[in-house]
This record gives sequence, structure tokens and C-alpha cells, in this order.
Amino acid sequence: MSRPPEMRDECALREAIVATARAMNAAGINRGTSGNVSARIDGGFLITPSAVPYDATAANDIVAMNEDGDARGRFAPSSEWRFHREIYRARPDFHAIVHTHSPFATTLACLDRGIPAFHYMVAIAGGTDIRCAPYATFGTQELAQLAVAALADRKACLLAHHGMIAADTTLDAALAVAIEVETLAEMYWRALQIGEPSLLSAEEMEIVLKKFAGYRKHRSC
Ligand SMILES: [Zn+2]
Repeated sequence: MSRPPEMRDECALREAIVATARAMNAAGINRGTSGNVSARIDGGFLITPSAVPYDATAANDIVAMNEDGDARGRFAPSSEWRFHREIYRARPDFHAIVHTHSPFATTLACLDRGIPAFHYMVAIAGGTDIRCAPYATFGTQELAQLAVAALADRKACLLAHHGMIAADTTLDAALAVAIEVETLAEMYWRALQIGEPSLLSAEEMEIVLKKFAGYRKHRSC
């Protein structure tokens, strides 16, 4: 008996979450079981389980959560499920979230530094900078609220002494943002070894942001 379309969709989404988590590690932006991946579903979201290696994670191991934080699955959800829930609540434009402890972004975050407009591609996160949220203990509601604030008008933020969050309309797009943010963090870190890079002006970044918006519009035609 074939499954109804919404179930087929959820199965496909579970497979895509596993593939995204594995791709995150293969791309070198995450190591081991740190980090997590989620995607929005009706009434809640699907999220990677806690402490299960991604290579050993099957689609059925992905945990379903509702908006109240009730979990359905044979494993516990990622300990960071609260910031996934709060981001989906606050940002109806997001349907997928990738969280990593990527080495270069986390290095900057350990210095409480975000990424300023040292390179025009910073605009990929939606604004003139990529903020670093202040530190709060992992898994807490406090961290969830700080992450939502740092993501205001942005698709990515760093988390002080912790890692990075990237979000977008699809899993592929969220992963692409995470990879780009890590690339920018590496370039910024390298530049800082030589000196303090000069920054692009707010006016120039506005031009870049408008060009990016036009590019996205063109691509969606
Ligand atoms: Zn984390």
C-alpha cells in the first residue's frame, strides 16, 4: 500500500536531513557528532538525534518534534532543539537550519567576533555583517533567544564560544550558506594574521545586497 503524499514527503525530508548532515562533515565544516540539522514540517520540525554519528544515522532515526517540544522517535532529539524551535517560530521564511562547530567560524566566535563587511560575500547572509550572539549554555532557552536576535534580517550568525547557525528555505540552501560563512570566516581569520582588513562601506554593501536580491529574483524565474 502506498503512503499518502505527506508521509512520502516526510520520508524524503528525513533522507535529505541525513544527507545534509553527512555532507556537512564531508565538506569539512563539522566534525564528529557535534552540530545538527533540521527541517520544518507542519506543526513542528524534524531534527537529527543526539549523539548518533551521522554515518550511522538512518532516516527513521530522525526525531519529529512539535511546537511544544514534544519529541517522537527512538532517540532523543539534538540537545540544541530549543534554538531550532525558536528560529522556526520567529522566522516563517526559514524551512531548514544547519548548526555546526565549523573550525574557522568557531575560532572567531571564541573571540566574541562576528564577521564584518571585509568581503562583499558577507551579503550572502542577508546584511552588512554576520553577527556573533553572546554566549549562553548550550541547549538553553537563553541561547535560543540570543540566536534569534543575532539572526534578525540574516540567514546566519555565530554563537560565542560555540559555533555557527545557517538557515534558509531548503536544506541545500542552508548548507550552502553554512559553507560560505565558514569560507568567509577562514578568509577573515587569514587576513587578521597579517593585519586588520579595511571594511567595505555601508553604501557599497547596499549595492551588493541589491544585486544579490536581483540575482535571486532572476534565478527563480
Ligand atoms: Zn552546538
